[in-house]
Amino acid sequence: MNAHPDVVAQPVPPAPVQLSRLLAAAPDPSLNRHLETFGPLDPGADTEGFLQELEASKLTGRGGAAFETWRKAMAAARSGRKGLFPARPVVIANGAEGEPLSFKDRTLLAYAPHLVIDGLLALTRALGGTQMYLYVPAGSIPGVRHAIAEHPGAARIEIVAAPATFIAGEASAVVNRIATGSALPVDQRRRLSEAGLNGRPTLVINVETLAQVALIGRYGARWFREAGTSSDPGTRLVSVSGPPPVQDVVLEVPGGASLVDVLAAAGMEPASVSAVLVGGYHGRWIRPGPYQLSPGGPAGQTVRPGAGVVHALGLGTCGVQVTARILAYLADESARQCGPCMFGLPAMASVLNRIAAGERNPRLPGELDRLAKLVAGRGACRHPDGTAGLVASALEVFDEDVRAHLGGRCLAVGGRPA
Ligand code: SF4
Repeated sequence: MNAHPDVVAQPVPPAPVQLSRLLAAAPDPSLNRHLETFGPLDPGADTEGFLQELEASKLTGRGGAAFETWRKAMAAARSGRKGLFPARPVVIANGAEGEPLSFKDRTLLAYAPHLVIDGLLALTRALGGTQMYLYVPAGSIPGVRHAIAEHPGAARIEIVAAPATFIAGEASAVVNRIATGSALPVDQRRRLSEAGLNGRPTLVINVETLAQVALIGRYGARWFREAGTSSDPGTRLVSVSGPPPVQDVVLEVPGGASLVDVLAAAGMEPASVSAVLVGGYHGRWIRPGPYQLSPGGPAGQTVRPGAGVVHALGLGTCGVQVTARILAYLADESARQCGPCMFGLPAMASVLNRIAAGERNPRLPGELDRLAKLVAGRGACRHPDGTAGLVASALEVFDEDVRAHLGGRCLAVGGRPA
């Protein structure tokens, strides 16, 4: 294993980064700088020991779902070995980042493309695969293309453009985009790990997760677990945004990081924040408090980072109105393939919009809650579930604000008309 350099990166405009690991080579994305900073990836990283190291690291996916990476990888590897005619797995690096509040994956691709490529090459080799894709937004393609051209062994990686839609990064949408050109989710009877792209076992894996894989391949599971907690080891990138003059920033934080510390590192005092949206548009609202950012743990003490998003609302901003705008956007982003999603989300958006506008109808919150329960679990993908979860958290956290709106007033503007 290599020794990890204790490099603290300089601020990287427009997203300054406080870190010690993933963006240690920033702002120079060149292969030379990458090798100077991290050293080469151990050639032995393609052995079975590599997967064992991944298992020992307990790395979880950094794209939102937080599955254990080695389990996901092994599922594809095992499927590939089944049957009379074994199939080589396909590995897809997912950098789509359709979440409007997220910019950490784009930042990673801009400043550390070679870590992502290292992770993709190493994991594909470990699974016995040969086909690799890098699925990224149009803006990331020139940088990624340059990095692939200078990276040894990367010539076989195919770049595919991810459309700028919310659901383009959903795993079945990613596979569908590569197979057919359409980035819409597909109702799957079989898991992608069994039958994905062209019927082959397919692993769709977030680009930050792959960069973490590349570091574990170099420095080992023990090093990875030196940061974070025993149940949430390692670090994660978080896209942090807030009210002006707070600038958008990507932070690398340890697993189980305190939300208050994350806000402070981005220049925000909890007292200047009315609520925080954690996890993105499919995440949940909370009041600023002593929460830990972690995929698991007691509900009152931990909040799931989801796609690594922390967005703070200022004191003069109405959470009901912000959620209404988000809900209108999410309704618009439905792929209109499933009835509950196609009709349910616009209906929910309409009800919340009426509340936000100060309509004096006490039945509206109950109707919103009813609709949210109706759509959850009834789509081909998790878009309705994620949307329903956001609405449920808004009704809980902004309970007082909702009641004020039903009386025609808005607390965020001092009780003036909504
Ligand atoms: S649940 Fe909605 S977003 Fe998902 S596939 Fe169905 S219509 Fe599309």
